[in-house]
Amino acid sequence: MSKRTFVIVGASLAGAKAAEELRERGFDGRVVLIGTEPERPYERPPLTKDYLRGESEREKTYVHPADFYAEHDIELMTNTTVTAIDPGGSRVTLGDGQDVEYDRLLLAAGAEPRRIDVPGADLKGIHYLRTLADCDVLRAQLVEGARVAVIGAGWIGSEFAASARQRGLDVTLIDPLEVPYERILGAEIGTFYRDVHVQHGVETLLGHGVESFEGDGSVSRVLTDVGEVVECDFAVVGIGIAPRTQLAADAGLEVDNGVVANEHLETSAPGIFAAGDVVNAWHPFYEERVRVEHWANALNQGPAAARSMLGENESYDRIPYFYSDQYDVGMEYSGYATSWDKVVFRGDREGGEFIAFWLRDGLVVGGMNVNVWDVNQYVQALIRSRRPVDAAALIDPDTPLESLVAEPAT
Ligand SMILES: Cc1cc2nc3c(=O)[nH]c(=O)nc-3n(C[C@H](O)[C@H](O)[C@H](O)COP(=O)(O)OP(=O)(O)OC[C@H]3O[C@@H](n4cnc5c(N)ncnc54)[C@H](O)[C@@H]3O)c2cc1C
Repeated sequence: MSKRTFVIVGASLAGAKAAEELRERGFDGRVVLIGTEPERPYERPPLTKDYLRGESEREKTYVHPADFYAEHDIELMTNTTVTAIDPGGSRVTLGDGQDVEYDRLLLAAGAEPRRIDVPGADLKGIHYLRTLADCDVLRAQLVEGARVAVIGAGWIGSEFAASARQRGLDVTLIDPLEVPYERILGAEIGTFYRDVHVQHGVETLLGHGVESFEGDGSVSRVLTDVGEVVECDFAVVGIGIAPRTQLAADAGLEVDNGVVANEHLETSAPGIFAAGDVVNAWHPFYEERVRVEHWANALNQGPAAARSMLGENESYDRIPYFYSDQYDVGMEYSGYATSWDKVVFRGDREGGEFIAFWLRDGLVVGGMNVNVWDVNQYVQALIRSRRPVDAAALIDPDTPLESLVAEPAT
């Protein structure tokens, strides 16, 4: 009997962890891990943090040691793009025209930065930050005294701004929102982060969009929609990402803000699964489809998809989680709070050591610990319990969080 072949499209965190899981579970067929980038799978968070600032080695960014793939008989094909999927024929086509047949397919194609569409957007010196190659270019530009305009105060923009300030650049942060993250986290946390940047010397132009870029071949000015002119040596744009769905859509798979999948991460085409930034999967806890663009999701969903490929009937129901490091402010956020009645705080908000809880109808729907550690499991348990919590006890630092955690509802 010929061995089964499992093909993974996308050799990044979700794909690499899926391949690892297949071997961990004893799958002895072919595992083919295909990626467009020249690098073996690496993690992206260091690209706005220590690696960008030149404080850590490239080797530290990789998901696995160089010999891992050969040692585990994983056929890693870098510099290779899958150009088509034929679900009927169970095969994918590569850029060079070669076909690879599969028994199971995993789409882990991730997401790509949204491009800014204003006059001058194609000038040299306007950068996006997604890949190690992007980061290497920017790393070389983090020279003390250089001036950078950062467009977009989301996580990528703000982390880049923080690292650039730490390297001594003059940073101007521009965003149409007056308060960063306001839409997803509310004004309180947005204001906190805005103030952190101001305290660290970032010039903030918030509430102002970019009208155009100007320069002689290379960008030297950013014009905002209220007429401000920001002189700069280069610009970094972080205005969100879009899931890479074209391949799936062309193959007739259901696509809606990502590749649509059920709770087992199987797409509308039987035998084809999806994980990581690209998937919009049914979440049994939230009872709706959720697409998460964060590291922990790729880390955990890749292996979960691998288990589904092997026929284990597990549902993926982890509470979304992400983290961010800016200057000396580290935080973890858990939850998926699309609406809330109020945000309450435990700890020292002024001093930047606190836990914020998002409450809806008395239930905790989200929690963020800022420079407070080892509490995430309690925050997650509070969310999962779906039981009303006494808000006074929640904000009282003398009431241990663990005492508020009810047994999860069965
Ligand atoms: C700079 C940066 C910093 C970040 N920091 C944080 C952080 O601090 N905290 C946090 O929680 N999250 C962070 N994230 C988010 C996190 O890195 C992503 O959620 C994670 O990388 C998603 O992994 P993925 O494997 O799903 O997709 P991706 O990492 O996007 O990888 C997909 C891969 O698939 C390849 N591919 C696409 N199409 C094809 C094709 N047709 N054929 C072959 N290969 C293909 C791509 O080239 C890419 O290598 C950060 C992201 C970036 C960019």
